[in-house]
Amino acid sequence: MAKHAVVLIPGDGIGPEVTRATKRVLAEAGAPLEWVECQAGLAALAQGRDVLPQETLDLIEHHRVALKGPCTTPVGEGFTSVNVQLRKRLLLYAAVRPVRNLEGVATRFSGVDLIIVRENTEGLYSGVENQVTDDVVMSMKVATQTACMRIAHWAFRFATRRRRKKITVFHKANIMKMTDGLFLRSARRVHQHEYPNIEYQELIIDAGCMKLIQDPSQFDVLLLENLYGDVVSDLCAGLVGGLGVVPGANYGERGAVFEAVHGSAPDIAGKDVANPLALLMSAVMMLNHLADELDDPECGAVAERVKAAYNHALQDGQKTRDLGGGLGTDEFARAVVERLR
Ligand code: NAD
Repeated sequence: MAKHAVVLIPGDGIGPEVTRATKRVLAEAGAPLEWVECQAGLAALAQGRDVLPQETLDLIEHHRVALKGPCTTPVGEGFTSVNVQLRKRLLLYAAVRPVRNLEGVATRFSGVDLIIVRENTEGLYSGVENQVTDDVVMSMKVATQTACMRIAHWAFRFATRRRRKKITVFHKANIMKMTDGLFLRSARRVHQHEYPNIEYQELIIDAGCMKLIQDPSQFDVLLLENLYGDVVSDLCAGLVGGLGVVPGANYGERGAVFEAVHGSAPDIAGKDVANPLALLMSAVMMLNHLADELDDPECGAVAERVKAAYNHALQDGQKTRDLGGGLGTDEFARAVVERLR
């Protein structure tokens, strides 16, 4: 059987632990993958290399698919985020995060099944910050028509393919009339001219967050600019059990990088308590992507097998501590492996 080369970045903190667990499940499930391991983040720095080595970027561009563990970014000083750099340099402009209730994971809400689409390349993540005077610093929010139209097209195309019914844009265009205004007008235009069949809703983000917490089941696809997408992703993770259960993908024309929404969780790193499920779910998204892109049904079949196994494990109460269980990272991986058919 032909194997597909996939770049693997273990990352920092809990990254190596959750990647090891994910690799183990995929290997046992018979995923037709060949890992091309390379470094980014603190792990690359420790080897005396750039925080995002050119070789890592080249390998992702060459193989077009990567599975990535979280990378640490120093707060308030130090190098710019590896994650932001990676998304910008490979033009991975669309981040997708499916947020769903899982059977066996008790939460305050039921019926949550929404997908977050986040613009990944601009907004306040442009990294344009200035010291204006001794007293004043400034951060610039950037919006381009190109990126706003690109993500709007992507979101409506995605919603159509996935047979989703409704897109809601969260914005603050009442205050940021130019930047959020452009984002909103772009989405509105794409809806009106190209996808009038999809229900469309605009909400000012503060009211949108309140509605999310009142009844998340009223939302289907959320379309947000970069920072709002980041914040709302974690908020939505909280609705379905936390960061341990929300996977993610970053798509662009030149490739796709799959990674969990969570970060490197330094507070629990090295303790064998991290939940590997979010990365495993991201790997399932990756297998489905490979199945579509390479027309390889085997990848789709393995994705189904892995998904059925982790659902089965959760239903049997096999859970890590963040979900109220008692299993460690490796024990949860073993519980999933035992349920592979
Ligand atoms: P975080 O997501 O790492 O952790 C937030 C909380 O969730 C912590 O209490 C952590 O223990 C818990 N948590 C996260 N993942 C978990 C898992 N798999 N299982 C169990 N519990 C889990 O967010 P943070 O603490 O704000 O950030 C830590 C570092 O990660 C920072 O350097 C940040 O820049 C980086 N980060 C990286 C990415 C990425 O690589 N894509 C994303 C977000 C944050």
